[in-house]
Amino acid sequence: MVWQIPLASVMRMTDTPMNQAYDSDNIFARIIRGEIPCAKVCETEHVLAFRDINPQATEHILIIPKGEYVSFADFTANASDGEIIEFIRTAGKIAKDAGLDETGYRLLSNHGEDANQEVPHFHLHIVGGNPLGPMLKRG
Ligand code: 5GP
Repeated sequence: MVWQIPLASVMRMTDTPMNQAYDSDNIFARIIRGEIPCAKVCETEHVLAFRDINPQATEHILIIPKGEYVSFADFTANASDGEIIEFIRTAGKIAKDAGLDETGYRLLSNHGEDANQEVPHFHLHIVGGNPLGPMLKRG
């Protein structure tokens, strides 16, 4: 007999800090609920995008799903296909609408401790508008 374990179950079983229960009081959850203001760039049924409060480049936009996903690992394992498709398409459109297609941009998502993820609600950074230098700083 071959056991088939859904990918989502496997990822939920791993005991890392980023697989902890979703904290509905995190700052991005509060932005989604309208309790904290944001400089909104775009909103769709399942996605919200707004400017980073501490921009690391001329353009620095955060894209978040409205659903409760702690991190990239949680989102890719547990979001519906519709949510994932809408998220990726919206990210592409935001970059294009910001005029970054011509000059270039970087997509970045921090997952967990080694990446210094600060906010435990999955988000994608879009940065661009000026030369970004090497992908990672050494040391
Ligand atoms: P992380 O390190 O989790 O990938 O990135 C979190 C990002 O959220 C940081 O770039 C930080 O500047 C941004 N951020 C944190 N709090 C707020 C906030 O209240 N409003 C906005 N617009 N951005 C925030």
